[in-house]
Amino acid sequence: MKMEKKSFLKSLRLRRKVRMVEECTCPLCAEKVDKNEFRNEVFIKEFESSGLCQGCQDTVFGYKVAW
Ligand SMILES: [Zn+2]
Repeated sequence: MKMEKKSFLKSLRLRRKVRMVEECTCPLCAEKVDKNEFRNEVFIKEFESSGLCQGCQDTVFGYKVAW
């Protein structure tokens, strides 16, 4: 269990590195994504999996998600 978590975190970090290299742009609005624009880590996690900026996450998910 511990090992799994470790390698999971490692792959996350790797992905983040790749993103930094290839400029973080949102696939929806093509705007450059600044991690500081995210309201909390939940949105950052979503960004890491979908690449969506804060504005597009608001649009896509609407306000159903009440964070
Ligand atoms: Zn966007």
